Amino acid sequence: MSDDKSMIGTNIDFDRDGLQTGTLRLPHSVHRSAYGHIAIPIAVAKNGEGPTVLLTGGVHGDEYEGPIALARLVRELDLSRLSGRLIVVPAVNYPAFVAGTRTSPIDDINLNRTFPGKRNGTATEMIAHYVTTELLPRSDYLVDFHAGGSSLQYLPTLLAPRWSDPEQKQRLEEFIDAFDPPNVVYFDSIRALSGEDRVIGNYAHQNNVFFVTGEFGGGSTVNIEGLAVVENGLRAVLSHLKVLAPAAPLPKRRGKVRRLVMDDPGLYAFAPRRGFFEPRFALGDEVPAGALAGLIYDLDNPWAEPVPVHFRHGGFAVCIRTFSLVEAGDCLGHLASPA
Ligand SMILES: [Zn+2]
Repeated sequence: MSDDKSMIGTNIDFDRDGLQTGTLRLPHSVHRSAYGHIAIPIAVAKNGEGPTVLLTGGVHGDEYEGPIALARLVRELDLSRLSGRLIVVPAVNYPAFVAGTRTSPIDDINLNRTFPGKRNGTATEMIAHYVTTELLPRSDYLVDFHAGGSSLQYLPTLLAPRWSDPEQKQRLEEFIDAFDPPNVVYFDSIRALSGEDRVIGNYAHQNNVFFVTGEFGGGSTVNIEGLAVVENGLRAVLSHLKVLAPAAPLPKRRGKVRRLVMDDPGLYAFAPRRGFFEPRFALGDEVPAGALAGLIYDLDNPWAEPVPVHFRHGGFAVCIRTFSLVEAGDCLGHLASPA
């Protein structure tokens, strides 16, 4: 056992055939529970030989389409149709999920900004470390389901890495074609949207795990269209990967995927000052370069002229802020360019 072995234990045997539901036991000794742990639900289904697909939701605790779809997948799973292994963690940052918050109430850390995590770290750092050292090395594929959380609302959108290698690109395009999302945005999965490389996609890549993610709603609620995209896409890709044969015919294909790319900071709008925000764009708008994203009003002086905020680049609006109240530096939304 190496010194880096996670202190998170589990009652799951990853190598056993059959369906197991159990927990990851995150040590948590606190005033009200001296010998306690936080029990993070996990399911592992294995049947014979085949690839391992890691399916995650709730990396942020206020995003719900992934957790719903993943739990339903496990509840309805017909093991006889499985060839390989599914590792399903519907709410990876479980303390955040229980609190309904993006970051953990224990340490206020955003799980997807703390990879590769730390063995001896805080609760969220320990979870990241477990994913990096125990789950990713066992996996061939990772599909990580997100939404905009409390502060953002997204059009249901698959997010796909921008590979230049033709073979990687081909595999990815076949996956996207099978998932059949209304929108796909190609992005830098190593450095995420904000230029940070402390994200799960970077460590999936380092573990040679095929990685796709996506934003399927937001506003800390369930987007029913986004949920349908997730559920249909999940069934279709598991069938495409020959891991899980569908129990019922796959839904009729949408046929048209809007292909977009996020490759420039000018596609984002940020609040330059505190106040409250009146948006001048809506999700799904084609926004021209230099267009007004919205106006920021002074909270204390209704007679002051509002401060205009512009998008430097034009594009298709995929994301908008939900909260009107803003601080300087808050994201007001973003566009994506045609790919
Ligand atoms: Zn998220």
